[in-house]
Amino acid sequence: MLDYFGLEADLGEEERLLVASAREFVDGEVEDVGQHWIDGTFPTELIPKMGEMGFYAPNLDGYGLPNVSEKAYGLLMQELEACDSGLRSMASVQGALVMYPIHAFGSDEQKEEWLPKLGTGEAVGCFGLTEPEHGSNPSAMETRAEREGDEYVLNGSKTWITNSPIADVAVVWAKDHSEDGDPVRGFLVETDRDGVTTNEIDDKLSLRASVTGEISLQNVRIPKENRLPGVEGMKGPLSCLTQARFGIAWGAVGAARDCFETAREYATEREQFGKPIGGFQLQQEKLAEMATQITLAQLLAHRLADLKERGEMRPQHVSMAKRNNVRMAREQSRVAREMLGGNGITTDYSPMRHLTNMETVYTYEGTHDIHTLILGEDLTGIPAYE
Ligand code: FAD
Repeated sequence: MLDYFGLEADLGEEERLLVASAREFVDGEVEDVGQHWIDGTFPTELIPKMGEMGFYAPNLDGYGLPNVSEKAYGLLMQELEACDSGLRSMASVQGALVMYPIHAFGSDEQKEEWLPKLGTGEAVGCFGLTEPEHGSNPSAMETRAEREGDEYVLNGSKTWITNSPIADVAVVWAKDHSEDGDPVRGFLVETDRDGVTTNEIDDKLSLRASVTGEISLQNVRIPKENRLPGVEGMKGPLSCLTQARFGIAWGAVGAARDCFETAREYATEREQFGKPIGGFQLQQEKLAEMATQITLAQLLAHRLADLKERGEMRPQHVSMAKRNNVRMAREQSRVAREMLGGNGITTDYSPMRHLTNMETVYTYEGTHDIHTLILGEDLTGIPAYE
């Protein structure tokens, strides 16, 4: 397993154990991920198993959560995405986009109701921010909440929502029209409420081993207690995205590492012109560049975790790491695919699957362009979004 600068040697016991258990899990339990990718399905039977393994928000504390280090959490995301981005997306959404906001901004009752069952995988959550007309600019969202007595009434539609068709609860971000200035607020919406529909989007050519859907809200009534009390404005959803993007910066390294390992093994076995293709300089250059780019991304991820652990990580640090590491994985998965020749376009090998997954990962959680603009603003002080 590529670890050229020996980063694993510095891991603590807890980190080592989590990496080992995640590797054992993906090797033993998720052998058929390629078939799920072909079928466009997620292995839902693994949802409680992943909970049992402590894969959902293990970096949070209380409510039976293990409170592992940020590095251990990142390493876990890396191992899950080495298997498939769909598996890492499941853990990212459940942990960073659903459990995190409940943990950070929820009432005691909300935490007690949801965190234990989301942690075990008994319940599945989803995060509804993107709308059909508002993707990169979610602050223009149209979904609205209005207070009526002891209830809120929600109307609007969300799209591209990971897990919405299989979710029990959705964290829905909406403008609260009963407050001055219509601030963005988070609401916990049980998906079996009247007026909620969650159609699946089933024509994806990327992230196929993941369930994606819409959330339509038509006069959905929820008790006022379902509003997340601890946050107001875009910092609510954006702080969740920072958590999830941290995991993606790590996860992308895993996908690229799996592509590299597949290409290295193939290059030592596949013979052309009387010798393994790995014996030709052109192929060695590809492996050398791939290993270098993966190693640089690993170093960035490790440093990011150190900053997060110390409380010094800024969202812009996360933007740089997400932007760089996903671009790296997108480029290097293509190189790996190329090294496998015709076999590289089949599902018998992982690079083409990772390559197509990376198109989603490059786009969601802030597109590559949007992270460029975040960095541009940070470096110049001048916003260039509009
Ligand atoms: P647009 O915002 O329309 O962007 C189109 C293009 O224009 C992009 O290349 C973009 O970079 C570029 N662009 C936009 N604005 C600018 C600008 N100011 N300057 C320069 N270029 C610009 N969302 C959720 O809320 N929850 C989820 O669970 C979720 N899961 C997803 C799963 C999948 C498989 C996918 C594909 C998406 C998911 N998303 C989710 C949505 C995702 O976050 C959005 O697709 C993303 O934010 C981009 O929005 P958009 O698709 O509307 O593209």
